[in-house]
Amino acid sequence: MDLTDDHVEHVRADASMVHSAAALTRVSMKDKRFFARCIFHENKDFEMLLDVRGKRYRCETCGAEGDLFDLVMAAKNCDFAAAVDWVEERTRHLTR
Ligand SMILES: [Zn+2]
Repeated sequence: MDLTDDHVEHVRADASMVHSAAALTRVSMKDKRFFARCIFHENKDFEMLLDVRGKRYRCETCGAEGDLFDLVMAAKNCDFAAAVDWVEERTRHLTR
């Protein structure tokens, strides 16, 4: 496995924030913006705003924020390298 910055940025650039989040939690669209059900606090609403371009997330309620890989690490309880691998694998699925 190749975990250079170039590789990480390549994976990030190709990844879909919405599809990745949808594989980890539930995602809903509201006013042309995507919201996910926050994985960091108990809730039934879609409070976590997904920044599709920036590949980041921020929860309106509990303040959790980070990038795509932070979300994967938290949701899957894995390390950074495994998160990059997971995102790359999902992107490959989508583009096949
Ligand atoms: Zn939250």
